[in-house]
Amino acid sequence: MPENEGEHQGGQQADPQGEHQGERKPGEGGDKKRKRKSRERDETPPPAPEPLPVPVGDSHTHMDLQEPAAAAIIEAADRVNVRTLVQVGIDVPSSHTAAALAAEHERVHAAVALHPNEAPRLVLGDPDGWSGQRRGPGGRPALEAALAEIDKLAAEDQVRGIGETGLDYFRTGPDGVAAQQDSFRAHIAIAKRHGKALVIHDRDAHEDVLRILLEEGSPETVVFHCYSGDAAMAEVCAERGYYMSFAGNVTYKSNQALQEALRVAPLNRILVETDAPFLTPLPYRGRPNAPYLVPYTVRAMAVLRGMDSEAGLAELCDALDTNLKDAFQVQA
Ligand SMILES: [Zn+2]
Ligand SMILES: [Zn+2]
Repeated sequence: MPENEGEHQGGQQADPQGEHQGERKPGEGGDKKRKRKSRERDETPPPAPEPLPVPVGDSHTHMDLQEPAAAAIIEAADRVNVRTLVQVGIDVPSSHTAAALAAEHERVHAAVALHPNEAPRLVLGDPDGWSGQRRGPGGRPALEAALAEIDKLAAEDQVRGIGETGLDYFRTGPDGVAAQQDSFRAHIAIAKRHGKALVIHDRDAHEDVLRILLEEGSPETVVFHCYSGDAAMAEVCAERGYYMSFAGNVTYKSNQALQEALRVAPLNRILVETDAPFLTPLPYRGRPNAPYLVPYTVRAMAVLRGMDSEAGLAELCDALDTNLKDAFQVQA
C-alpha cells in the first residue's frame, strides 16, 4: 500500500485543515507528516451546482464543523436535490449533537462513535492540545465510560449508524494502536447489538480493518466512509457485501487507484458523501465543503463509470439514493 500524505488517500495534502476533532487549527506539535501550504486558505463557499435530476443523499457529513447553522446547510442541500443527510459523530459530545440534529430534522439521520483518533486520546491523554481539548490521560476507564455513552445513544431510533470508528494509522503512532483496535472492536459489538450500520474510517489501515472485521464477525451492514482502497480491495468489499462511500477526493486527478475502485465497485454497493467540511470536490478543492456540493462529486462519478448521459446520471442518482436508504434503513 503506497504511503499517503493526504487525508484519506491524497485528500487533504494541500489543505491546512485537518480532519475532525477540532484539528482545523492544529498546534505546532501536530503531525509532522502533514504538509502545509503557506498561502491563505480561500474560505469563500463555492457556488451551488446545477441540481441533480433525481434526489440523492450525503452519507457522511459533519454539520457541526461547518459554518452556517444546520437549518441553512439542509436548505442549501435541498435546493440541489441532496435530500438525506447522515450526520456523523467523532466523540461523545459530537455524537450527542448528531443524535439531537437527527431528532430535530426529518431527513437527517445520526451516526455515533468515537473516532479512531479519539480513542488513544481518551486513554493516553492529549497534552499538546492537538484535539483542542487538552485532556490528561484517562486510561482504560475513560475509554470504557465513553463507549458506554455511545452504546446508550446507539439505542435511539434516529441513530442509524455506529461510526465513525475504525483505524487511522496515519495520525496515531504505535502507542495508540491498541486503544484504537480495542475501540474498533467495541464499536463492532455495539453495531451488532443494536442492528445499526457500522461506519468505518480507514486510513492507512486497510489490512487490519478487513482482518478485525473478519475476526469479530461483520455487522449486517458495513460502510467504508471515504473509501480509500484500490480496485482489488473494492472486490474484497463487494464480495463481503460492504458499501463503499466515495467522497470529493475521487474527483482529484492524482487518485487513479481510487477512481479504478469506483469503476469496479458494484452499482448497488456505492454511496456518495462529502465528509464536509473536508475533501471539497473539484473544481473547488481547498474551499469549504458542504452537502450542497455533492452534485459535483456525483457528476464526476458518472463520468468515471461511463454513466454521464442524461439517463445514466439519473440511474446513478437513483442507485445512490436507494443504497443510502438501504444501508441506514431509512425511508427519507
Ligand atoms: Zn473519517
Ligand atoms: Zn468524517
